[in-house]
Amino acid sequence: MKVVHKEFIIKLDAEGDMKDITQRVREVVKESSIKNGLVNVFAVGSTAAVTTIEYESGLVSDFKTLMEKLAPKDADYKHNLRWGDYNGHSHIRASLVKPNIVVPVVDGDLVLGAWQQIVLINFDNRVRERRVIVTCMGD
Ligand code: ZN
Repeated sequence: MKVVHKEFIIKLDAEGDMKDITQRVREVVKESSIKNGLVNVFAVGSTAAVTTIEYESGLVSDFKTLMEKLAPKDADYKHNLRWGDYNGHSHIRASLVKPNIVVPVVDGDLVLGAWQQIVLINFDNRVRERRVIVTCMGD
């Protein structure tokens, strides 16, 4: 079994900006020359997250609306009192969505639905350059 790590950096706007990183991940899988296995896509940082979604503007907007309901920006967070960075909601959202996903690799390509894209989200309350680690494992 072979393990290949690659990383890239993407600049994202504040408060839930979401970017489609499917093509970047697909390129890493192709470069790794792994034909069958798994790929783990991990966002570094406690206010970033990775998931899959049908990446179209309606759903991207619906997702933001749901996040605001689940962890409202203006709610009281002990984290804000403790650190004064006022991103308690950002941390909670990132924890709920999770920092990584694992996608199967079959015949050298990602196994994804036709309308299923891999997305990186910056939940922080400021613009961030987010580091993404892609780990391909397999033969
Ligand atoms: Zn914080």
